[in-house]
Amino acid sequence: MRRFPEPITNLVATFSRLPGVGPKTALRYVYYLLKQPSHDLEVMARALTQLGERIGTCPRCFTYTELETCFICQDPKRDPSILCVVEESRDISTIEATGQYHGFYHVLGGSLNPIEGMTPDVIRYRELEERLKAEEGIKEIILALSPTNYGETTIMFLQKQLAPLGRSFSRLARGLPLGATLEFADEITLGEALSQRRSIQ
Ligand SMILES: [Zn+2]
Repeated sequence: MRRFPEPITNLVATFSRLPGVGPKTALRYVYYLLKQPSHDLEVMARALTQLGERIGTCPRCFTYTELETCFICQDPKRDPSILCVVEESRDISTIEATGQYHGFYHVLGGSLNPIEGMTPDVIRYRELEERLKAEEGIKEIILALSPTNYGETTIMFLQKQLAPLGRSFSRLARGLPLGATLEFADEITLGEALSQRRSIQ
């Protein structure tokens, strides 16, 4: 590869770490940025810094938040008897957009995938178990995981491990595109999958 000035090489390496971005695309981004006024670059750099400084995770549901506890966990109008378990924070926005769900959430931070290092200790399984033990008011747990192999494995694992706690489990109805993650589901399909959720034993 051609030798570039160090700032270019550094940024190409940084962008290449983003999902779906290879070195060629990264270089294209860098050339685009080089054409922008330096003030715009500062604004962008500040936005990135603030992401690291101001966003943390909610201690209750583990979604990303700027607050001490996220606004959903703080909402007294939500139904405390249902807990929706999702893989990623971004899944919460997808589910909220359906307008079909009014309970609380638990973010696992991924699905089981031992080859990639996603073991039960890495996904927030223990935290979920602790929460269920502490919050007896939770009656139903919706395992709203993506219809992928990893999502299926995770559903089976959680249901088996948490069964002794005596809660009812449900999962999203079929109709979601198989193999795709929830972030690509449209609101109507996901809303139906939620409202027609199936109970599992
Ligand atoms: Zn929260």
